[in-house]
Amino acid sequence: MTRRWLLLAVGVAAVGVILALAIEPARPGGGRTFQARQPTSRHGGERETPSRKKLVLGASVRHRPIFAVLLGDLDATRPLLVFGDIHGDEPAGIAIARDLYRDRPPRSGLLVTVPDLNPDGVAARTRQNGRGVDLNRNFPWHWRPLERRGDPQYSGPHPLSEPESRLARSLILRRRPMITIWFHQPLALVDESGGNRKIETLAAHLMHLPLRRLTRYPGSAASWQNHRLRGSTAMVVELPAGKPSRRLIERDSDAIRALLRASALPPGINLSHRG
Ligand SMILES: [Zn+2]
Repeated sequence: MTRRWLLLAVGVAAVGVILALAIEPARPGGGRTFQARQPTSRHGGERETPSRKKLVLGASVRHRPIFAVLLGDLDATRPLLVFGDIHGDEPAGIAIARDLYRDRPPRSGLLVTVPDLNPDGVAARTRQNGRGVDLNRNFPWHWRPLERRGDPQYSGPHPLSEPESRLARSLILRRRPMITIWFHQPLALVDESGGNRKIETLAAHLMHLPLRRLTRYPGSAASWQNHRLRGSTAMVVELPAGKPSRRLIERDSDAIRALLRASALPPGINLSHRG
């Protein structure tokens, strides 16, 4: 990744945000399906249909809805997927996911945001879901029994025992994202999670965070995707502790838009399936 290229990416992101602010005021993301106001147009033969669509994926253990918002070219494949949280007591990324779908949709590529995968945990301010399971130990990659119900890293009775992890798994397998970002707190770093190191490095640079390698825990969502969808990059982004500042929200939201544009570039990345 050259410095010039990075500067260009950051510049394009900044221009995008300025345009978004100038052209369109923030809009609540309440509607189930809604089309952006700007008309469909053609530029250089490329059809632009930036839009938004809300999809209800299912419900949590305690029947709270879990939804995704699709932004940009709804027909595009290999989206960038963002999970605002998986641990209920680490909710800072939810504000970033919301910021993404309140802004103008990207002109090309598809952004899929799941603002809150663990609404029961957020409501109860617990790491685990409504049944006391750590969802980030409940995925099939090297799953093994860990701890007991209600313990911080209880991995559940079996892999994918929880509706929240099943919803995330089926969304990932259906959409086959090029990049998936899982927000956590409070370590303030990008975890070298086992995907494409160039993408991790770019994410760390854009988010002003160091790139470090954390322990790869059995049953974690990012490791599962990196092994199941070879060629895709799932990574953990640890935000700092506490409520995120407006500045951090804007910076990370811009970073994600820049990553979406960048993810269309590397031709060497192909997504192959491994059962
Ligand atoms: Zn976490």
